[in-house]
Amino acid sequence: MKIVFFSTKSYDKEYFEKANKEFDFIFIEANLDPITAVVIPDGAVVCCFVNDAINEQVIEVLKSKKVRLIALRCAGFNQVNLEAAAKASIKVVRVPAYSPHAVAEHAVALLLTLNRKTHKAYNRVREGNFSLERMTGFDIFGKTVGVIGTGKIGATFASIMLGFGCRVIAYDPFPNTELTEKGIVYYPLNELLAQSDILSLHCPLTPETHHLIGQEALQHIKPGALLINTSRGALIDTLAAIDALKSHRLGALGIDVYEQEEHLFFQDFSDVIIDDDVISRLMTFPNVLITAHQAFLTSEALEQIALTTLQNIRSFNEGLPLANEVTLNKN
Ligand code: NAD
Repeated sequence: MKIVFFSTKSYDKEYFEKANKEFDFIFIEANLDPITAVVIPDGAVVCCFVNDAINEQVIEVLKSKKVRLIALRCAGFNQVNLEAAAKASIKVVRVPAYSPHAVAEHAVALLLTLNRKTHKAYNRVREGNFSLERMTGFDIFGKTVGVIGTGKIGATFASIMLGFGCRVIAYDPFPNTELTEKGIVYYPLNELLAQSDILSLHCPLTPETHHLIGQEALQHIKPGALLINTSRGALIDTLAAIDALKSHRLGALGIDVYEQEEHLFFQDFSDVIIDDDVISRLMTFPNVLITAHQAFLTSEALEQIALTTLQNIRSFNEGLPLANEVTLNKN
């Protein structure tokens, strides 16, 4: 069986080749779109990542190529038109859990870097500048941390912050009893926003959570709060966040994901003019830290992603139940 990988990077190749025993791989660097899809051999499995927009048009081409399985090598599936896939009788599988620690720890890295300005210290010291001017941070100990979405990653992040000596509170329509047993209290969203010194987003992107942190929510946040998003870019209305940064309502913003990231992330634009004025504006703030969707990128996570993806494909091949299938009504 042939598996065609889209949006392939060197680390995908390395970890998938290490985990492979039986499949033929075709690695393609380009994103999946209606044009790149034409190279797919008939009946192959298509393996995609977060920014491969698997819309109705793409599904149509996949159907004409007799593709029966889309294997996502990620947890999120907001990039797939599940209705169109179901209509075309194409099954979709994903990797629901690989390393919640990888993503939760990256959220902590963003928080610590933004707060203690280690990125600036690194550059200053390398240039022989040992001044501490404008480097003051705050103690994280004793602060209130609001966690939005307490599934696998949110719960891991919440536990780490308990270890820092924070008061951790949460918002999730489905409270996690393991966290309530640890003393974490759930609040309605606006109450959580008003109480939190630090906010971290860990819920999926759905029609309900699109722009969850928009103009209205930003009016409820505690003035000066620090906001971290390692989940999906469109949870935040970026233009509203820019306004909140300009008015100092939002104290700092750390993001690993961005609303329009599919046009930028995972590519090198260091020699060209970036024509996205919104991210360009964000990049000018001294209190904004952006990483390019790298929270998942640990060797443990890559190993698990490869193993689970290949097991998903093996199960499909052998007609076994698909434990990690994504359907319209499930998940
Ligand atoms: P999960 O399914 O275990 O948990 C998601 C939680 O969000 C659930 O508890 C759910 O009840 C809650 N939720 C759903 N709707 C909500 C709402 N309206 N408000 C608040 N909470 C809500 O998922 P996970 O494994 O913890 O992953 C969380 C998200 O992290 C994924 O959806 C994905 O978008 C993102 N992610 C990012 C990276 C990265 O590299 N940056 C990697 C993996 C996952």
